[in-house]
Order: sequence, then structure tokens, then C-alpha cells
Amino acid sequence: MQTKKAIVNANVFDGNDMLGKKNVVFQNGKIVSLSTELPANAEIIDGKDCTLLPGLIDAHVHTSVEFLREALKFGITTELEMMGGFTKKGRESQLKDIRDIADVRSAGMGLTAPGGHPDELIPKGDGIPDFVLKEMEKMSEEQKEAFIAAHEAQRQEEESDMDVTTVEGAIDFVHKQVENGADYIKIMIEDGKVMNAPGLPMIPPDVLKAAVDEAHQLDKIVIAHILTAEAAKTAIEVGVDGLAHLFIDRPEWTPELIRAIADKGIFVTPCLVLNSSIIGRSACDIAHDERVQPKLNDDWKMTMCSCFNTFPSGKMEDNFNNVKDLYEAGVDILAGTDVSVPMPHLGGLAHGVSIHHEMQLLVRSGLSPIDALKSATSVIAKRFSLSDRGQIAEGLRADLVLVKGNPIKDISDTLSIVGIWKEGISYHN
Ligand SMILES: [Zn+2]
Repeated sequence: MQTKKAIVNANVFDGNDMLGKKNVVFQNGKIVSLSTELPANAEIIDGKDCTLLPGLIDAHVHTSVEFLREALKFGITTELEMMGGFTKKGRESQLKDIRDIADVRSAGMGLTAPGGHPDELIPKGDGIPDFVLKEMEKMSEEQKEAFIAAHEAQRQEEESDMDVTTVEGAIDFVHKQVENGADYIKIMIEDGKVMNAPGLPMIPPDVLKAAVDEAHQLDKIVIAHILTAEAAKTAIEVGVDGLAHLFIDRPEWTPELIRAIADKGIFVTPCLVLNSSIIGRSACDIAHDERVQPKLNDDWKMTMCSCFNTFPSGKMEDNFNNVKDLYEAGVDILAGTDVSVPMPHLGGLAHGVSIHHEMQLLVRSGLSPIDALKSATSVIAKRFSLSDRGQIAEGLRADLVLVKGNPIKDISDTLSIVGIWKEGISYHN
């Protein structure tokens, strides 16, 4: 039983609107009330000159226990993994009894051709990469065992003779993910053009369509990795529910593409922070912000200060315009980052902080600050059916972030964090 707590005097953004000054009471991990009344017998937290937000969500990551911990330091209370080990089964074995981390959902493995994306990003060589070894040093024996078992299962899957480039193989693959407890299905449509790896093997569209149909039969939504307008077109044709990235180019038929996305009700998680890095920009200025710097270790600082730089001829202006047009067409925009591991060739990103950066870039694209905040809270919850979070409302999880200032006036105020609660427990550091 937790003591009853009340955050008072703060301006409340409930995931949809600014409600003005309200007192938010929570106990035992859940929000009890939202009103102007002062509750009796509650521990009072003064939110004067502050804004209270729902816990933030990152709709595109590849994560680990340590990275989930880093995300929480920046008020991200849920990460959605778009390929990785934290399916329902993975969570049960690897996250048991660990509380000081962001919550997570996962696609499990993504559907990709042998040697297809993201193979081009994985350093070749023998043995376990350094960052994995480093992470394992911090684990308990039990966690280590679960981690090794999960990776062994993944390796066996990769070596199995299931041919995912055929309709039968792709359908089998979807079933396998769902059996492993995947929360949604991820498919890859990537020819490598903007990843400096042209000619990557891909799965034919008819096979992709069979996989999407099967996932829908099994009641799972499908999210497609795309980085070009051409790939986005294929994704729409095979019937996906969401795009895991924004197309980085802007051909003359972009208006038709945007109309099709809007007409079909497809959501888009632009990950502008990633596209900015692909074009050759680092996020060093964000890494050295005094509100950010103390929370990043040297590996992440180095990563933030480097970039992918695989498509230097791309233009940020095209990306901003693509987002603006999608937004004006009424497409649901979700905040995501595609952050994974701290390595210079995957630079410009870090867990947690990059969602704040993404909201800044969404505002630069033309989203109102309130819609940028919605894109990192209620809109993600709605599109991923996370009905217990993403808003501040009675009965929902007490995932809360208290920030100094008013992000409606200056979106970068979301970085001025003074309090973080996940399921009612304070993690402010
Ligand atoms: Zn990704």
C-alpha cells in the first residue's frame, strides 16, 4: 500500500488539453482523482510554476534493461520496441522484479529478407559486441541466464530453415512472433538507398501482404519500416497500420502519397531525430544542454555528438514539409526516435532525451506544441491500444512527469524535469 500523494498547483496537460490548475491525487500506482479539491491525508507535492504531463512514450526504440533505465530518467515511462527481445515472454523472464525502468512493449523479430535491413548496420566479426558485454557485467546471475536464453532463441530462429521470402514462410514467421508474445508486428521495406547500402535484399510485396493479412487475422497491428516515398507506397499497398519512419525524400507525387496515408487512417512515427542524423547532423547541442548532460554517460554523449551521415544529400526542409503536410492532412503523428545502442555510426540519438528532441523538431515542422505533446502521450496510447496510460485521468496508471515552466509556450521546457513517477513511485534523480 503506497501513501496517498497529491501534486498541487501545477498546470495539468491531461494528454489532450491544458486543463489549467488542478490537483492530481494518486495511490497504489493509479490516479485517484483530478480536481480543484485539496485531498485530506495526502502527501503534498507543490507544483507551483510547473506543468504536469502524462508519462512520455517513445514509439520507436530497440532497447535493453539498462536503456529502459536511462529512458525513465527523462520521463519516458514506456518504450515501444520495433524489433527486439521484450515481447510478453521476454518481459516475464528478463524484467521480473525490476522497477526502476520504463515499461516496454515489443514487436519481437521484424520480418526481413535474409541479409536485409538492419543487417547493414550490424558490425561484422566474431563474438559478442562490446556494448553487450558491458551491459552483461551489470546483470544479476538470474538476469544473465534469461538474457543468454533469449539470445540463444533468437540465434536459433535466425538459423532455422524457414524461408520468410515465401508466403508460407512469412505466415509462419508472424505466428511465431505472436506465440512469443509480440505486441504488434514489424515488417521491413528497405532497399538500402539512403542507408549507404544499395541493393539490400527485400521481401516481395505479395509476401508482405500475406504477412500483414495474417497479423490482422491474429488481431495485431502491423508497422512498416520505410525511409523513402517509394517504400511508403509499397507499405500502403500491402495494408499496414503505421509507418515506423518518415520518407526522407519528397518526390513530386508526395501529395498523392500523403492523401493515401490520410485516407487509409495510417499513422506515422516520423523519427525526425533519426532522419536528421542520416542527413549528417549530430545532436551535440542537446547532449550539452545543462538539463541533459548530467544524465548521460560518456558513451551516450559520444553517440549524441556523432551521426549516421549515410544520406548527406538529403534535406531537413523536405522532412519538415513532409511532416507538415501529413499533419495538415489529419494523419496521426507519433513521437519516436529509433534509438538503439551507443555507437557512433548510430549517432544523434539517446534513450529518453531524444523524445524531447523529437518534440522540438515536430514543433519546427509546424505541429502546435499541444499536438507535439499529444504525439508523445495520448496519440501513441490510442494507436497501440495502451488504454491504461498516455493520459492523466481517474483510474489510469500514475505515470507522471512534472516540468518547470510551460511547454505550450516553449516546447523545450519538457526537459526542465523536476519530478518523475512511474506507477506512483518517484524516480526523480
Ligand atoms: Zn528501428
